[in-house]
Amino acid sequence: MKIAVIGTGYVGLVTGTCFAETGNHVTCVDIDEVKVQKLQSGKVTIYEPGLEAIFERNIKQKRLDFTTDLKEGVKDAEVIFLALPTPPGGDGAADLQYVLKVADDLGHILDKYAVIVDKSTVPVGTADKVHNAIEKNAKVEFDVVSNPEFLREGVAVDDFMKPDRVVIGTQSDKAKKIMERLYAPLVRQGNPIIFMDERSAELTKYAANSFLATKITFMNEIANLCERLGANVDMVRKGIGTDTRIGKRFLFAGIGYGGSCFPKDVQALAKSAKDAQYDFKILNAVMDVNTTQKTRLMDNLNGYFKNNLEGKTIAMWGLAFKPNTDDIREAPALYNIEALISAGAKVQAYDPEAMENVKGQIGDKITYAENPYDALKGADALMIMTEWPVFRTPDFDVIKEELSEPLILDGRNLYEVDQMQELGLTYFSIGR
Ligand code: NAD
Repeated sequence: MKIAVIGTGYVGLVTGTCFAETGNHVTCVDIDEVKVQKLQSGKVTIYEPGLEAIFERNIKQKRLDFTTDLKEGVKDAEVIFLALPTPPGGDGAADLQYVLKVADDLGHILDKYAVIVDKSTVPVGTADKVHNAIEKNAKVEFDVVSNPEFLREGVAVDDFMKPDRVVIGTQSDKAKKIMERLYAPLVRQGNPIIFMDERSAELTKYAANSFLATKITFMNEIANLCERLGANVDMVRKGIGTDTRIGKRFLFAGIGYGGSCFPKDVQALAKSAKDAQYDFKILNAVMDVNTTQKTRLMDNLNGYFKNNLEGKTIAMWGLAFKPNTDDIREAPALYNIEALISAGAKVQAYDPEAMENVKGQIGDKITYAENPYDALKGADALMIMTEWPVFRTPDFDVIKEELSEPLILDGRNLYEVDQMQELGLTYFSIGR
């Protein structure tokens, strides 16, 4: 099949590359010229495990190419994916300007039937809006399908190639058949393609992300309560996670959720509910709790240094919003950096993949270390913000030797409390 993917970010690049891998011819379109030039020269623009090898193979075999020209990109495409940004607007609602602009352009460009697929996370009713935007100028027939994406950054290729399920919202039999054919190679193990109407598909994505954000937040509140009641959240997690109705996943307490999806999607769903005159109380609570949770360790740090962080140097391990990605959007680390700097502290950070992105955003407000241990040199405490595997079993003797105070603040509960005590380290974690 000939496919076009409009928007070549985390979702678009993975979608395009993976569909090329299953034998389609894919053209990815982006307005960012620097990004497209880099992709055209054979370099991947994001860090995503497993992506580079598939990307290189499909470029070599001429199934994957890139352009900034929308008209050229969608020429002869049977399916056109919109993997465009939907950032929060000023009122929290998803900003549809990127999606609707491309839809409008497509109306002028399409010269034969195509299926236009909303892959971006978009509020209920967007498929209709996209349809109307194209229809204004369209000279040919087309269908608009809602096909939300559930991939997780860090395991995006695996998630895309072996999805738990594929959700497709359409009422067109023709579009349904085309989408079924496209996805068939990815669901050979029997995972379902769930067909539904467009509005339900759109809401499914927000419901999934908001449910997961609520699950994490619930555990973070249990952790906060554990600290007050003298319980251990790890034990509570194991105790409840073994109940199959609850499940083991997404129960780890920490310094809150971040990333490009949960914060904006919870906010957007709350706004959609409000617009529909429904007060979605639980979502408002989730957002409130998460805001305080992100900088919770600052209380411990301030307590330890008697509210005087002026001139202190804090080593920070982890900047990405989660491991195995270079994505720093809404990363808790950034909120902590801001809090530390405004309290007069300096930050020396290390992250295996995300330092370039942080440099691009905040430049030399902090210093960047070559490796985890260099970040500790001359530091007064260590803060852990991301659970990269490399931080899991560090050399604690070196940590003790390098830090002026034997102090670790661990936002991801990486170490055993008993072991830290035995090593003579002052250790703050979440809910233990
Ligand atoms: P991104 O910001 O990484 O990528 C978007 C790309 O679109 C950018 O490269 C940008 O230059 C490009 N773009 C903007 N306007 C354009 C235009 N007019 N023509 C062509 N390209 C244009 O965003 P992302 O993380 O890939 O997310 C895309 C959508 O997918 C969002 O709605 C997001 O909520 C959703 N989503 C993201 C994830 C994730 O893990 N990142 C997972 C599921 C769903």
